[in-house]
This record gives sequence, structure tokens and C-alpha cells, in this order.
Amino acid sequence: MSVPADFQFSQASLQDFVDCPRRFYLRYVLRAAWPAIAAEPVEEHERRQQLGLIFHRMVQQHLVGIPETRLTPLAADADLERWWRHYCLYRPAEMLQNAARHPEIMLMAALGGRRLVAKYDLIVVQAGQRAVIFDWKTTPARPQPLTLQTRLQTRVYRYLLVRAGAHLNGGQPFEPAQIEMFYWFAEYPEAPVRLPYDAARYHDDARYLENLIAQILALPEADFIPTDDEQHCPFCPYRSYCDRGSQAGVLGETTDDRLLGTFEISPDFDFEQIAEIAF
Ligand code: SF4
Repeated sequence: MSVPADFQFSQASLQDFVDCPRRFYLRYVLRAAWPAIAAEPVEEHERRQQLGLIFHRMVQQHLVGIPETRLTPLAADADLERWWRHYCLYRPAEMLQNAARHPEIMLMAALGGRRLVAKYDLIVVQAGQRAVIFDWKTTPARPQPLTLQTRLQTRVYRYLLVRAGAHLNGGQPFEPAQIEMFYWFAEYPEAPVRLPYDAARYHDDARYLENLIAQILALPEADFIPTDDEQHCPFCPYRSYCDRGSQAGVLGETTDDRLLGTFEISPDFDFEQIAEIAF
């Protein structure tokens, strides 16, 4: 089996391939069922994922105009209450300035003969001047800035905003130097990570992403092999397919950046929201 003809690449699928080609194959080509749990304790992991979804929805509702006071009662859980309180106290100042805000927006562009898509938590635009991509993280640990700089999310989000964001900027494509990625951590509200962009990185991302997609599409089935880096395996739900252990990784016993993927919000694509892009 090969990658389906209508498959659309995203930061999550590309990150899976980079972390482990086998995981990409199991998840997106075979669509393997009944994966193992990703982390222990199960209830705590699922609880935090669910709270992360609710937090993202609360912020989205606030950004479209629902008052804080109406949303605050929804934060009944202690963790959610803390994240929401941090958001209310420390939300990034750029959001409050005179700028257009685009929460939960999706962009896409053609690359390597396929579509590359991204769903953003928030893009704030001062037309003709700058655009800031905000991403809310509810992970227990704050990843290293260098890790975030190299993750596919950073590369895809900034690249796609240049490629496909002209309609947010009065019809003019953004210059890479006008774009910044801003990771805000609900557990570390005063320590965001800001990652500016530039033309050299943009051209590097364009080459890298196109080559990566071409590599995936050209790979024979037998070459989607398990990663050599077994540190990816304890928090991977496909362990049983690869004989990489039956025990899930334990939350709280690591601050490893590989945990990031287990807390990502799954992109539930609603293509009604995607702006039209000329291919
Ligand atoms: S368990 Fe390890 S080798 Fe198997 S798919 Fe997951 S990351 Fe890859």
C-alpha cells in the first residue's frame, strides 16, 4: 500500500514521519486500529488531553467576543481554572493591540504535487506590517526553544502563512521577516517562546518540506521502517505493532520534548473554514 492519492500533509503527519517512518505508515497509510495507550496513567493523560481541548475552545470563544466573565465558570477543574486564570492575566499583549485577529483559521497550499494544510490557534495581523502566529500549549513541561525551532509545526506554520496568507494582508503575500511564531504555555504564562522568521529560513523550509513530501511519496512500503531512536517509542500508541514494549511511558517521569506529540490537539479539519487558495 502507498500513501493515498488524496492524502493531505500536515505538520502532524510530517512530524510523525520524521520521528518514525513506521509510525507514519501505521497511522496514515494502514490506518491501524486499536493502538496502545500513549502514556500512563491513562486517566491522567486522557484528562489532560480533554482539558487541553476545552482550554483551546474557551480561548477561541473569548477571541470571537464572548466575555471572560461568561467563560470563567466553565473552568471548573483545578488545572483548567489555573490555565484560564493565566490566560486572563498574561495573555500576550499583541492580541490586544489594534490588529485583526483570526482564531482557528486554516490555510493550505500545493507543495510537491499534494496539499499542505495547517490549522492555527490564532493569527494576529497588522496589515502591511506584521503577522504573529499564536499557539497555545497545555503541556506539563515547557519545551526548549531550539526544539520548537526545528519542529515541523514551526516550519509548516510560518512557511504556509507566507505561501497562503495574502488574503489576510490586503492581497499582498507576507514577507517572511514580517512573520513571527509565538508559543504560549498555559503552565508557564510568563515564559513564551518567540520565533521570528526570515527569507533564508523560508527558502530553506520550502526546499525541506518539498523534499520531505517527495521522499514520503517515493518510499516503498518496506522502507517505512521503525525508528532507530527508541526514545520515541514509550509514548507511541503503536508499540505493540513494533515489539517496542508493552508498557506506556509514565507522565511526570520525563520532561522529554518527545512528549509534545502526545498533547497535540488533533487537527479536526473543517474544510468549510479553509480560505480559497489559487493553485
Ligand atoms: S513504537 Fe517506536 S518504532 Fe513503533 S511506530 Fe512507534 S515510534 Fe515507531
